[in-house]
Amino acid sequence: MRLDENGDPVEYPSLLTQAGTTLKAVAKFAASGCKTVDQDRYERRLEICRGCPLFDATASRCTSCGCLTSVKLRMASESCPHPEGARWGPE
Ligand code: SF4
Repeated sequence: MRLDENGDPVEYPSLLTQAGTTLKAVAKFAASGCKTVDQDRYERRLEICRGCPLFDATASRCTSCGCLTSVKLRMASESCPHPEGARWGPE
């Protein structure tokens, strides 16, 4: 088990849950016409993730959904899955 910089375990949802999340995200993205955000909005989203305790900086992934931020943050149809409320998107 990998540990974060505080010595806490880095945990992700189950692989089945991650697969379901990915399928839903891809379907929503396709339904939106595959719209992506511009570089400025991408970087604003990334800055928010970098300040979030659920961001796994080593893998550049969100531990709440398991998504790769380099992909998720580009999709205009996506939003932050933070359990206490979305920190960004959709736009
Ligand atoms: S919960 Fe939201 S802000 Fe936090 S890492 Fe995931 S997508 Fe980014």
